[in-house]
Amino acid sequence: MSGAHKKSLAVLGATGSIGHSVLDLVARYDDRYEVVLLTGHQQVAELAELALKFRPRHVVLTGDAGFADLEARLGDSGAHLHHGMDALLACLDETPDLTINGISGIAGLLPSLRVLESGGALGLANKESLVAAGALLVEASAQHGGVILPTDSEHNAIFQVWSAQHAAAIKSITLTASGGPFLNTPLTDFAHLTADAALRHPKWQMGRKISIDSATMMNKGLEVIEACVLFDVPIEAVDVVVHPQAVVHGLVHYADGSVLAQLGAADMRVPLSYVLAWPERLPWCADGLDVLALSRLDFLPVDEARFPAVELARGAWRQGGVAPCVLNAANEVAVEAFLKGKIGFLDIIASIEHTLSAMSLGGNVDLEAVLGAHDEATATARAWIEQKGS
Ligand code: NAD
Ligand code: MG
Repeated sequence: MSGAHKKSLAVLGATGSIGHSVLDLVARYDDRYEVVLLTGHQQVAELAELALKFRPRHVVLTGDAGFADLEARLGDSGAHLHHGMDALLACLDETPDLTINGISGIAGLLPSLRVLESGGALGLANKESLVAAGALLVEASAQHGGVILPTDSEHNAIFQVWSAQHAAAIKSITLTASGGPFLNTPLTDFAHLTADAALRHPKWQMGRKISIDSATMMNKGLEVIEACVLFDVPIEAVDVVVHPQAVVHGLVHYADGSVLAQLGAADMRVPLSYVLAWPERLPWCADGLDVLALSRLDFLPVDEARFPAVELARGAWRQGGVAPCVLNAANEVAVEAFLKGKIGFLDIIASIEHTLSAMSLGGNVDLEAVLGAHDEATATARAWIEQKGS
């Protein structure tokens, strides 16, 4: 990876947790990467600070408020400043060598599609776009020569130990789950769990939405679907085990009895460095993993009575059509309502179940259908939440 050519890099959602981890790595290797585009939704001061540090050609603020502030902060910087999602999509037409999509929620879908339609490489942390419209993303990459690099830690682990040469001998894959903050909390306490408690993840520092998803384990439900899309495996071949130490991230089981796994610290810079350097590796991690410090590694089944989200997601995938999109949309609405204190912890899953049962889920899955189903599911889940609160 050395030499004169720097990889041009777009970081979408630069102000978030994924963005922070990517840019931490990039800052160590300014001889290898040239940041050409940074985007953020709301945190104008932080976005401006990143722009002054990394000097991208384009900076996009996607949220409604704060553009004048961004102009005031970056007016003299020489960067082209843009406002809104359409402007972000237009910037992607310059096709950077690599785009990292660290936007949270369905807002990541159109940027993901645009990168793949322009034949670019996409480090896809934004799992919601894979869940809502996986087939569309895979089709776009196949048609236009784009590449999706699995970036979620478990999927990146599978990607690292997936031998294309022996693909026919792959029997199944296992995704690990740390179990989140409520792994050992009795079900009788679940109705009273607060957002503050749910945001305190024992292993991973992440954005608010994915932290709540980890607490309900819907994160793992979304990841099962994500795995089916990324690796084209049947859902029966995707297992989930709880692994509280969060050291082993993913395993591939081969038909000859060998199981290959990837281990690493619970630090997104490990998978992100693989994505940044792929197909090479970035020698950023001087300390590595101290195997002797691992006193034990536990693996447990998911307690489905307390964490029904994984089965709910499996059901949505089996149902097909727009069901995964509806599951994702209802979850986004419910997580937001829970974070605002409008509903209880158990209501998150209840509102998704209601939304799935209230909608018709079949039919063609083109972009229009996905966006329509997302909007309808959003309205349905919101109505359920309003009626619950009244
Ligand atoms: P975050 O909330 O910390 O950051 C989200 C980023 O997206 C911010 O830059 C925000 O400005 C931007 N954003 C928010 N809403 C937007 C919108 N409507 N339009 C455009 N941009 C918007 O979230 P995160 O934890 O960094 O997670 C980002 C994505 O990566 C999620 O899909 C998450 O599931 C996935 N992911 C995160 C981690 C992690 O460790 N944080 C691990 C695996 C996967
Ligand atoms: Mg993950």
